[in-house]
Amino acid sequence: MEDCIFCKIIKGDIPSFKVYEDDRVFAFEDINPISRGHTLVIPKAHAQDLWEIPEEDLAAVHKASKKIIAAIKKALNPSGVACLQLNGRGANQVVMHYHLHLIPRSGDEPELPVSSWELSQGDMEAIKETAAKIAAAIA
Ligand SMILES: [Zn+2]
Repeated sequence: MEDCIFCKIIKGDIPSFKVYEDDRVFAFEDINPISRGHTLVIPKAHAQDLWEIPEEDLAAVHKASKKIIAAIKKALNPSGVACLQLNGRGANQVVMHYHLHLIPRSGDEPELPVSSWELSQGDMEAIKETAAKIAAAIA
């Protein structure tokens, strides 16, 4: 896609710190990192989000993430790695080209707000109704 920043990175029109590439996938360091080693894994073919990405590219992105997370463990020895993937403006997706964040965590860093929330049981009847509604909508 012409004015997509990630498509420009894949083409090399915008420089990046590449960590991995194969036929379908490109991975590079986020230049606005939440933590050291914050890596973005993207499909080479433009797709906006999880609604749009073809299954083959989705599988390739997640297979590559397994290789990259192994490398992150070896290179940086984090205490954990958060995998974060946002869909749509309402979920704070900023670049509208599917991307999976790999965010290494170490003990002295602040918690990721999205990965630490207070557990309190919801309305079981409402959860049951929502589950049925989603299940019925699965094609
Ligand atoms: Zn793109």
